[in-house]
Amino acid sequence: MAWAKKDGSGAEIKSIENSLRTVNERKHDMIYKLGELYYEQFKDAEIENEDFKSKVDIINKLDYNCKVWNNRKLKTQGMRSCDGCGNILPYESFFCNKCGVKLDAVAEELVIIQD
Ligand SMILES: [Zn+2]
Repeated sequence: MAWAKKDGSGAEIKSIENSLRTVNERKHDMIYKLGELYYEQFKDAEIENEDFKSKVDIINKLDYNCKVWNNRKLKTQGMRSCDGCGNILPYESFFCNKCGVKLDAVAEELVIIQD
């Protein structure tokens, strides 16, 4: 019986590669969502695992730097946000005109992240 070796370049292989890509993307997306859930649940908890702790620390610093970049963006428009309620106010404000909280200095210094 003759057996012809296939070259793997036809439409079938393309279709399989598309399926593989789709499955891997969904898997990656689910792992990401699982990580988000885990992070939200344990970010403020006392965790023994050093690897987890260091990753949470990096994420917290990235969160802080996001805030700094948002502050810098608002500052270019002469504005700032309220730490209490997120209200957008003139940069020189001392109190929030929405929730009444006394405003702290705007965080404008990025933290250095070493991973
Ligand atoms: Zn406010």
